[in-house]
Parts: sequence; C-alpha cells; structure tokens
Amino acid sequence: MTSGMIHVDYKLPKEIEMLLRRLSGHGYEAYVVGGAVRDILIGKTPEDYDVTTSALPEEVIAVFGEKYCHPTGIAHGTVTVVSEGVPVEVTTFRIDGDYMDSRHPDHVSFTRSLEEDVKRRDFTINALALSSDGTVIDYCRGVEDLRKRLLRTVGDPKQRFSEDALRILRGLRFAAEHGFKIEKETSAMMIRKKDSLSDLSVERIWKEFSKLICGTYCASVLRRYFEIFTVFLPEIAPMRGFEQHNPHHIYDVWEHTLAAMTYVPATVTLRAAVLFHDIGKPQCFELGEDGVGHFRGHPKVSAVMADAILRRLKADNDTRETVVLLVKAHDVPLEPVMKSVRRRLAQYGEERVRLLLEVKRADISAHSARSAYRISELSRFETLLDQAIKEQLCFSYSSMDINGKDLIGLGIPPGVRLGSIKKQLLNEIIEGTLKNEKTSLLQRAEAIWKDSQ
Ligand code: ATP
Ligand code: MG
Repeated sequence: MTSGMIHVDYKLPKEIEMLLRRLSGHGYEAYVVGGAVRDILIGKTPEDYDVTTSALPEEVIAVFGEKYCHPTGIAHGTVTVVSEGVPVEVTTFRIDGDYMDSRHPDHVSFTRSLEEDVKRRDFTINALALSSDGTVIDYCRGVEDLRKRLLRTVGDPKQRFSEDALRILRGLRFAAEHGFKIEKETSAMMIRKKDSLSDLSVERIWKEFSKLICGTYCASVLRRYFEIFTVFLPEIAPMRGFEQHNPHHIYDVWEHTLAAMTYVPATVTLRAAVLFHDIGKPQCFELGEDGVGHFRGHPKVSAVMADAILRRLKADNDTRETVVLLVKAHDVPLEPVMKSVRRRLAQYGEERVRLLLEVKRADISAHSARSAYRISELSRFETLLDQAIKEQLCFSYSSMDINGKDLIGLGIPPGVRLGSIKKQLLNEIIEGTLKNEKTSLLQRAEAIWKDSQ
C-alpha cells in the first residue's frame, strides 16, 4: 500500500533532529512517530517524542555507543538514547505477535518496514511518522482523520480491541483530551467490548482514566460512554437519572457531577474529587414530608466510597488521601470571616483549603441559580485567605511565637497538660481572642496553668 505524504514546517528539538540524522547517516530509516506527530499536526507542542527506526536495538547501540544507550525496554526493541543530554526512546520497527490475554502480545518481532510498524498502532491519528525533513508518512489515512477530528482504529476495531482492551480507554482518553469524534464502528465496538476492560491491570486503567478526567471534553465522554465506565466504576451506576427533588438542584446526581467537572481546574485530584463528591448520594436519599429530597451524611459516605475506589485502582496515596478529604469536606461551610478562615487553615492547611475552594466553587456552580450568592461568599473567603497568608497569621503550632521550652520555663512539666495548654493557646489565637506575641502568650499560659492547679 502506498502512503500519503504531506509536508510540515516544524522545527524538531535539536536532540531529536540530531538523532534522526545520525541514524539515517548510517543508512537506517528513522522517524518521530505516534502522539508527537499527531500533536504537531493539531498545533500542540508534544510533551515527548518517540522515535521509530529500521535499526535493530544492537544497531542503535552500535551507532550511538553503549555509553549513551540504556536498554530500557530491549525485549520490545526500545533503547533509550541520550542525545544532546536528553533521553529519547528509540524503538525498532516491530510487529506485535498474537495477543493471548487482551493485554500483552505474547511476542514481538522486528521488521525493516515502517508500514508494518504503523499497522500495529492503535488509532490512525497515532499511526503517522515524521522524518527529519518534515515529511509526514501516512499509511492509514491518519492525516485525513485528523483533519476531520475523527478517531478510528487502524484496521478492524473488533480485532484491535480484542488484542488490547486498553485501546478502548485510550481512545476515550483522546476524545476527552482533544474533543475527537469517534468513528461509528470504532465507537460501537468500544461499547461491545467494554467487559474486556476487566482483564486489564488496574494500574493501566487508572493511568488512562486519570488522564481522561483531566480532558477538556471529559464530561461529554463520561456521559456518552457511561456504561463503559461502569465496568471498572460500578459505583457510578446509581447516579445516572437519580433525581434530587431539591430546589437547589436542576440536574440529577450524574448530570450535576458532569456539570461540576467542567467547572473545576484540570488536575487529577480536583477532577477525581468532583467526580466522586456525590457518589454516595443515592444511598443517603430521603424524601421529606414536604416533598424535598435530603441526602444526610452523603459527604462521609461518598468519601468512604472514593477511598475504596482509589485503593482498588491503586491510585497513589497522596492523591487518594487528598481526594478523600475534599469529598468529605465538600459541604463544610467556608464563611467569609477571618475567624473561619483561620479555623479552616488550622484544620486543613493552606494547600487543601485552596483545593476545597475549587471543589466548592465547581459544586455550587452546577447547582440551580438559587445558589449563586454562595459563589460570591467563596470569593470573599478567598480574599481573606490571601490576606491571612500574606500577613502570616498564625494557624499552626509551628508559627506560634512560643514553643514547648518556653512553657517548661514557666514551670509547666512536659507532658499531656503542657500539650493541652499549647492547644488552648493556639485555639485562642485562631479565635482572635489572643495575640500571637510572646509576652501575651506567656502571661496567658501562666494564667491557664495556675487556674488548673
Ligand atoms: P500521549 O500524548 O498521551 O503520550 P501517545 O499516543 O503518544 O499519547 P503513548 O502511550 O506515548 O501515547 O504511545 C505512543 C504511541 O505508541 C501511540 O501514539 C501509538 O502509536 C502507540 N501505542 C501506544 N499504546 C498502544 C496500544 N495499547 N496499542 C497500540 N498502539 C499503541
Ligand atoms: Mg506519547
């Protein structure tokens, strides 16, 4: 089959250009391939560049020298070459063998044909190669699909998704990131093969899913392909269509969640927190005699569920802990008064208070217009928060103007009592009834200590 060829005017990074030229100087073919070419053609700067070559791994090592080569994935033909001080993955053209378990080819074999290499790739838009002179080599009509913003498997979708079910999730991830439409047969097959996602390792699922939820178009993908996501997130199933019977809400639980997703900044922590913030609502529903729905205790129930989900998907501890906290706290009031700002800072720390503000803002923005005044309250809270940080107001032991030794100096013996006096002092500082200044703190400590004698 002949390939389509177009030209792009794009300056490759020096280390990539040198690497391609060096390989071709030794008589091998070498191209940038995959995501980087796709990104260049849609005007996005690639985050990393993968290089594919006709040279066998040992030939790559012979060209660049052992000192500059790391056999990072040699069994799959990948050598990491340090070019101009930058590590670049260079992979030999290859054909994947049969897939026995819808996730790993049981063997790979090398080939000298670029065409064969690109045919093993997942989507036509990821099957493009770019040479150092700017020629795009296109065996699968990827350029045309990219122009139409269409995601289509290379070859028969049934076969390609059976070989590796992760491609279903990768496809949805690309749609969520770039707003690609999914070609009809590819889309239908994603849904038909959805259950094979349970054959994948949770690590691979989470890696793709966490990128997917950060996509600009994640809400429409989550809506359109809902049943695919229920395969590894069965907990979301009751959310769809769950009416809230509450004047503050115009959406069911799922649509409210999707709306809120679009309002929150695109980080994994924030997006996951918003995705799960109301996941426990269906379980907590009670219809009052007045016909109004209530969901008492849902933040806690949702937090327990989020914790279980993120453990199951093996998300890293830091992400999980922050998400769980944000879900649990999403309904706590953030009153726009300094005392409340200091309390929340003492309770959660600055970073998490700022994240909580984002979650609450997104949540409230996805309520009915009746809740709009609460958004301006959050802005006022944020202004006070900035002020508290700027003035370095005290909200933790470490920023108190005295320490344990000062208290011992007053004759208070080290131990539980000393700890509780310190806690009381901090509380009074936070409440604004005590100045964070050494003399006042010592006087107050002495008074508390004497009172308790
Ligand atoms: P990103 O921009 O997120 O890195 P990407 O398409 O570059 O997206 P990578 O995981 O870096 O994704 O993969 C590089 C290339 O390898 C892809 O563009 C595609 O050609 C091929 N590829 C990756 N994973 C698969 C897969 N599961 N099946 C077939 N081809 C794949
Ligand atoms: Mg990539």
